[in-house]
Amino acid sequence: MISEDLYCSFCARLLDKTLIQGVERPTCLKCRRVIYYDPKLAVTVVIEVNDKVIMVKRAVDPGKGLWGFPGGYVNRGERVEDGAAREVNEETGLIVIIDRLIGLFSEPNDPIVLAVYSGHKVGGCLNSDSIEVMDVEGFSLNHLPPLAFERDLSILETWKKRKSL
Ligand SMILES: [Zn+2]
Repeated sequence: MISEDLYCSFCARLLDKTLIQGVERPTCLKCRRVIYYDPKLAVTVVIEVNDKVIMVKRAVDPGKGLWGFPGGYVNRGERVEDGAAREVNEETGLIVIIDRLIGLFSEPNDPIVLAVYSGHKVGGCLNSDSIEVMDVEGFSLNHLPPLAFERDLSILETWKKRKSL
């Protein structure tokens, strides 16, 4: 999913692994350089339209054929909320305004940090142009489709709590 470098980006030597403070890290033994990877930022947006949350059926793994919230990776240099609105538009056809941050979700050993926002529709209609999505639909909370990520249930719980504040 997220690949790590095989070769040193300075001298092109094949990287070794060394144990640095209990963690195996790619290391160039020639440059004596240790590589520390940054996390990768992804965004997802919970959008409610007529008491239904908008979900997309994934056309790619992980979770191909299952459902999740629209979202994707933020580009470097892109305002995070703009990336969230852009991904929603690409995957659902909706034009949305991003309202608030629901939370940041991360797990040990997972390179991805997920920023979850709520948003509301201001235009567009359900229609996906993205090759990463095979269908887009609104679901009521008590009739959710099979979910790609268990995490989405805790996202919904957090979203419901925040909404009622
Ligand atoms: Zn090197």
